[in-house]
Amino acid sequence: MTKLRLAIVGAGPAGIYAADILLKAEKQFDVSIDLFEQLPAPYGLVRYGVAPDHPRIKGIITALRDVLDSGQIRLFGNVYYGRDITLDDLKKHYNAVIFSTGAIRDAPLDIPGIDLPTSYGAADFVSWYDGHPDFPREWPLQAREVAVIGNGNVALDVARILAKHADDLLVTEIPENVYAGLKASPVTDVHVFGRRGPAQVKFSPLELREMGELRDVDMIVYDEDFDYDEASKTAIATNKQVMVIDRVLNQWRERPVGEASRRLHLHFYASPVEFTGESFRYERTEPDGEGGVRGTGEFRDVPVQALYRAVGYFGSPLDGIPFDERRGVIPNREGQVIDDNDEPVHGVYATGWIKRGPVGLIGHTKSDAMETVRNVINDQANWWAPEFPEEEAIIGLLAERGVQFTNLDGWHNLDAHEISLGEPHARARIKVVDRDEMVRVSNQPE
Ligand SMILES: Cc1cc2nc3c(=O)[nH]c(=O)nc-3n(C[C@H](O)[C@H](O)[C@H](O)COP(=O)(O)OP(=O)(O)OC[C@H]3O[C@@H](n4cnc5c(N)ncnc54)[C@H](O)[C@@H]3O)c2cc1C
Repeated sequence: MTKLRLAIVGAGPAGIYAADILLKAEKQFDVSIDLFEQLPAPYGLVRYGVAPDHPRIKGIITALRDVLDSGQIRLFGNVYYGRDITLDDLKKHYNAVIFSTGAIRDAPLDIPGIDLPTSYGAADFVSWYDGHPDFPREWPLQAREVAVIGNGNVALDVARILAKHADDLLVTEIPENVYAGLKASPVTDVHVFGRRGPAQVKFSPLELREMGELRDVDMIVYDEDFDYDEASKTAIATNKQVMVIDRVLNQWRERPVGEASRRLHLHFYASPVEFTGESFRYERTEPDGEGGVRGTGEFRDVPVQALYRAVGYFGSPLDGIPFDERRGVIPNREGQVIDDNDEPVHGVYATGWIKRGPVGLIGHTKSDAMETVRNVINDQANWWAPEFPEEEAIIGLLAERGVQFTNLDGWHNLDAHEISLGEPHARARIKVVDRDEMVRVSNQPE
């Protein structure tokens, strides 16, 4: 029986689901999968994006872990595609590669002041509070009033972590430096701004509702934002999610405020104009009757000393692989990577956020992976013919290059170590943040 030696680059949910689906798929060949990940630990944005106070979502890691533990996948952590291994290497050792490298950068927002030192990208802040090893340990939290631009769940995550009292995060897995940073924050007011109205937000109802449960934080919404146009009324009447969002927001309109030491304001119909370092200027918008909004010419200033833009993530190009600079994705047809002339790049596939852009929940990466895997299976005639298909060969190559890679046993060691750090403090785990320390604990457990 022929064998598919498959490399998957990126051990986030997309890569792990792709491996799982391929292993379980009906096929006329054997499979051996090597999963390469630039971080010493797997799980991508589930570990380094999902907020620490969302343990239920973080719990998806258990299912992903079961896949890795199935014994049919080798994990090579701390291996960066483009530096530690190249496309040429993959062609010499595998029949095909699936890229599932996700997105970690902030999409740009072009307004004056966005480059000021106190203007931050949500992705960077998220990476800090989730303990990503490649980001600075210190985060400047000196502002009393903060603006968060965006009307999706990442904006809510950022606003919630900024507004929440650090002690209420202590039960989570946040690293020590993150707790210390948030504990010292003098923040009193977090303002979230969205261009459109309450019936057009991209919040999940559950995430929104959770904001109202924060201890000692008043939720503030403004009556002027609830003068709905016909399109909004229809959306509320016909879409269950929008209906719930509307209900939650309206409950907050009725709630007494004024007792809490911190406030979280939701501003709708507010289009970003400028950040000065001292204040945020927005233009009030109004519905345009076609489901969008238009500017009203009325400008308002809100005093804030820091600004976070949560306007989306953006993928990064990979060495030797076509890249769509405009969308931040690898161009592909149902997961089959294509070049500038729309021709298939044989042996190269993509899945997850790098395939279809940084939108959608973890569950969506599963259906995504199904489509990609189907194409890998059906494309057998076009797979590469590797010079060194033996499983040991790639280990030899990495060793020769002095790459300090981690493996699945190493991840188990690090996982156990983090859990043991949390135990004395009744915490789920305390994350190790330093990359060298992660590699050391993985490869030389005490
Ligand atoms: C802030 C935030 C909060 C979220 N919260 C939720 C939530 O509550 N619920 C939910 O369902 N979804 C949530 N999501 C969405 C979810 O995280 C994504 O749908 C999912 O992680 C996308 O999976 P992926 O595997 O495509 O990418 P990723 O999870 O980004 O994984 C990509 C992996 O590839 C690795 N990689 C990148 N480049 C290289 C390279 N050159 N070499 C080797 N490895 C590389 C990365 O290190 C990473 O581990 C959230 C997303 C964000 C940003």
